[in-house]
Amino acid sequence: MALPRFAGFALVLILLVAAPAAPAVVVLQYHHVDDQTPAITSVTPERFRQHMDYLQRHDFEVVSLPALVALLRAQRPLPDRAVALTFDDGYISVYRHAFPLLRQKGWPFTVFVNPAAIDAGSGQLASWAQLREMAAAGAVVANHSDSHGHLIRRRPGEGRRDWEKRVGSDIDAAQTRIAAQMGVAAKLFAYPYGEYDTQLARLLGRRGYAAFGQHSGPLGSGADLQALPRFPFGGHYGDLQDFATKVNSLALPVAGRQLLAEDGRPLADPVLPQDVGRPQLSITLAQPGDHRGVNCFASGQGRIEVRRTDEGFVAQAGKPLPVGRSRYNCTRASAQAGRFYWLSQLFIRKRADGSWYAEP
Ligand SMILES: [Zn+2]
Repeated sequence: MALPRFAGFALVLILLVAAPAAPAVVVLQYHHVDDQTPAITSVTPERFRQHMDYLQRHDFEVVSLPALVALLRAQRPLPDRAVALTFDDGYISVYRHAFPLLRQKGWPFTVFVNPAAIDAGSGQLASWAQLREMAAAGAVVANHSDSHGHLIRRRPGEGRRDWEKRVGSDIDAAQTRIAAQMGVAAKLFAYPYGEYDTQLARLLGRRGYAAFGQHSGPLGSGADLQALPRFPFGGHYGDLQDFATKVNSLALPVAGRQLLAEDGRPLADPVLPQDVGRPQLSITLAQPGDHRGVNCFASGQGRIEVRRTDEGFVAQAGKPLPVGRSRYNCTRASAQAGRFYWLSQLFIRKRADGSWYAEP
């Protein structure tokens, strides 16, 4: 039955108003929650409490990471104004300063651990018993590799098969140990240092893992399950205004993303070939016309050039990216006050002679 013309129009209007621009779940990444540990990877217990109080005051839903990944895998709609909490490395400060508050609020969280380091008995890390205590209250303990190594780096003379075997064993060993200690091990992985390339992402995909980086941005439907973004907090990041901007961010509706060299040839990987210093990030938007007002930034360079294309836009740094890890972040205002679309891309640049940089 055809709706009367007016009713049809009203229905469309209601759908437009009711449908959120692009529901987004934001995954937060913390390391230490302590005022005695290195500032760059720490938030103070006071700051952490402010973050959690903000979420509560503004009615955010705190979701578990396995539940979120299940929604993504099933291509089900994501909730809006939802966050998932993650802690990398399993520091004792998480048990001492974050856990009591999270238990009180009844909120789930995920701790990514390196079993070899726990077994070595570092006093900096939560013990298996403490992890089990957190799990009993709703925490998930997940895989951050056994070694916490730079997994994308090959050893001298190491071929692809040997690399796959070595890194696969590193990941499998961690998973086996977590399952033995916790009774269960979710197929969730956090890349050490947030470093991944296509080979590592595929290796994890074949093993059934969803894998998280440290490039910022919210998670939208259709997110790449082996390159999932998180917002890291620590150091300069995480004052309340910064926190509010990030947890309220929206996923830019993207139909495709491609990395290109300066000369336009496609790049397979966030790891740049030696001759590429100013990679192009080419974005195809889900809805044409969405490119208006897109601003992009590169680590250490501030705002960078954004060129419009028929399908979306291309962002490119004006100066060569430095050796190490860099990101392009692109944002655009949304129709909702205080809410920005946000998209991030990791790049990794080796030294000029092709060797790996030392970790600062
Ligand atoms: Zn780590």
